[in-house]
Amino acid sequence: MPTNHYDVIVVGLGAMGSAALYQAAKRGANVLGIDRYSPPHTYGSSHGDTRITRQAIGEGEMYVPFVKRTNAIWQELEDLTNQELYLKTGGLIIAPETGGAEWHVSGDFVEHTAKIADKHQIEHEVLSSDETMKRHPLLKMRSQDRAYYEPDAGVLRPEVCIQVQIEQAKHHGATVHTYEAVTSYKTTADRVQVITDKATYEADKIVLSAGAWMLDLIMPEYRSGLEVYRQVIYWFEADDINVFTESNFPFLIWIGDTDQDFFSAFPTPRDGIQGVKVLTEHYAETTTPDTLDRIVKPEEIAHLYQMTTDRLHGVTDNLVHADVCMYTMTPDEHFLIDFHPDSDRIVMASPCSGHGFKHSAAVGETLAELALNGQSTLDISQFSLSRLGTKESK
Ligand SMILES: Cc1cc2nc3c(=O)[nH]c(=O)nc-3n(C[C@H](O)[C@H](O)[C@H](O)COP(=O)(O)OP(=O)(O)OC[C@H]3O[C@@H](n4cnc5c(N)ncnc54)[C@H](O)[C@@H]3O)c2cc1C
Repeated sequence: MPTNHYDVIVVGLGAMGSAALYQAAKRGANVLGIDRYSPPHTYGSSHGDTRITRQAIGEGEMYVPFVKRTNAIWQELEDLTNQELYLKTGGLIIAPETGGAEWHVSGDFVEHTAKIADKHQIEHEVLSSDETMKRHPLLKMRSQDRAYYEPDAGVLRPEVCIQVQIEQAKHHGATVHTYEAVTSYKTTADRVQVITDKATYEADKIVLSAGAWMLDLIMPEYRSGLEVYRQVIYWFEADDINVFTESNFPFLIWIGDTDQDFFSAFPTPRDGIQGVKVLTEHYAETTTPDTLDRIVKPEEIAHLYQMTTDRLHGVTDNLVHADVCMYTMTPDEHFLIDFHPDSDRIVMASPCSGHGFKHSAAVGETLAELALNGQSTLDISQFSLSRLGTKESK
């Protein structure tokens, strides 16, 4: 085989790609990972210090095996590297008892989550507004709200997760090329050719895990319905940051009466950005990675401060930091993990619709298994490309 031939080439080394690279290299494959930047970086969907993870996945029961397997992989990596990937902080999902907005699934997200927790024996409580505020006096809840509490939930450190998996992949012999962009790929009967802005490579299989850039890499007929949305993360100065740290403050997923009321707040890791991280979600306008507006405007900051102070005590209007990030959404907000319809030499993962990080280590393992064995341990039947239809079939 020529020296530029690999068993597997992974295109994009963010949350999903770094995990796929690590898992393929760990299984002894000769693997090349290529990224247009140098991950972890702030240009895609996996930056911002923290990502929420929980065990009862209200988005759908099919995700529970993914989060369980992912948690086991984080534990293995923590033991192996002595790095802290996961902080157990507990987590609250707050929503009105009736008439709340829909989030990721139709119906009541708190009820969905509690049902899945019951079924999988995941420790949890459903608390009244008064009880929640008694335990967490920083919250300003309304009497009609209630909360699902999961004590073993917490936050991941996304940049560390990505870095550790790339380092471990290299330790197992993976080659990594950064600041190199894949521009196209071609399949022949016995290989795939990958063309970048610097060179051409060959592989038996390729994994496409390019996040918001997937739309450039998958065929136009399958792009229909996949959309990229600009999201902003804000960190506001606290009166006393100690009350918001990982040991004192759970993450909040706060579902309101309308989509516009969605709010989330995160505990502050001791070595993280020293502010209270908060966000809402925006779906009014689509964007692309190339045209993404990375400037955060004063009116956006004022709006988020208002949302924050309506829900939390102890946060000032002094913005410490802000980051722009991208959600890549499918129409049903579920994942896309499948072979390319034209060739089983190409494995695709994404878009992870704003809830992918907590499953990413297991998604990466699934991608490596699909590339190396043609099948996966975890069930991906609900993440098929065909369920999205093509432009023509819509
Ligand atoms: C603000 C925000 C908050 C979120 N909160 C949560 C949360 O709390 N919990 C949770 O579970 N999920 C959360 N998510 C979702 C989660 O972070 C994403 O689903 C996940 O990080 C996406 O990973 P990815 O690998 O698909 O994309 P990315 O991590 O963006 O990786 C894609 C990579 O591909 C590279 N690339 C692109 N094109 C090319 C090319 N042509 N050639 C080579 N390389 C290329 C890019 O440089 C990038 O490194 C959040 C997302 C955002 C934006």
